[in-house]
Amino acid sequence: MTRSQSTIHGPILELRKLTRTFGALTAVNAIDLDIAEGEFFTIVGPSGSGKTTMLRMLAGMEQATSGDILLRGKRINDVPANRRPTCMVFQSLALFPHRTVGQNIEFPMKIRGVDPAKRKERALQLMRQLRLPENYYGKNVTKCSGGERQRVALARALAYDPEILFFDEPLSAIDYKLRKTLERELKDIHRETGKTFVYITHSLEEAMVMSDRIGVMQAGRLIQVGTPNQIYSTPTNRFVSEFIGDVN
Ligand code: ADP
Repeated sequence: MTRSQSTIHGPILELRKLTRTFGALTAVNAIDLDIAEGEFFTIVGPSGSGKTTMLRMLAGMEQATSGDILLRGKRINDVPANRRPTCMVFQSLALFPHRTVGQNIEFPMKIRGVDPAKRKERALQLMRQLRLPENYYGKNVTKCSGGERQRVALARALAYDPEILFFDEPLSAIDYKLRKTLERELKDIHRETGKTFVYITHSLEEAMVMSDRIGVMQAGRLIQVGTPNQIYSTPTNRFVSEFIGDVN
């Protein structure tokens, strides 16, 4: 285990026979899974295996064809979208261009009506946590590097104060060296915040570095769930062992 068990509690998310079809195609096929509160859970699998569809259903952006998602025991469909304690961090980051780092980070607080002084204080606190220099507060995001924009996007997501953060391959467009740094930082930020992180990637290597547990998907099915050690030492089928072979 890479982090203290004591911070992991009961399930915050429960997937029950979660299924999504598109015409004749079953993109997500009867998935049963519990994700614990405070866990860093990564769904890994090749392109087309159903990761995005699954994450979009968890984030309430896509309807399930059948099955259920429970959030703290409550069906997610019964929780209005704007009341869900979740936030998505996209690969594209979706930052507001031509706005400053501070304005981007403060946006979630602004829409909640938090007063300007409190917003700024929290934005600066998040910037410290995300290792962004204080003088970046007034810097235009278009002048920031890829890695810095990544940190701004994560700071903005945290400014929503969500209980669960969903990550849609946020590091896939970033070069190898920077990605390795950001993976470490993301892991530290997860530990510091104690939030539940649900992350998707096609890179098992990335999943191995950061996650408490990994779920491996293939053709819409969850074919193995375990800690990085379990996945590495006892791959349960050829697909997983070949996948691990690629990492070595
Ligand atoms: P991954 O994220 O692992 O690459 P996706 O969830 O994006 O996989 O896709 C799983 C399968 O579902 C793929 O075959 C994809 O073409 C299909 N799919 C995803 N979204 C749609 C859609 N809106 N309409 C039709 N097919 C879709």
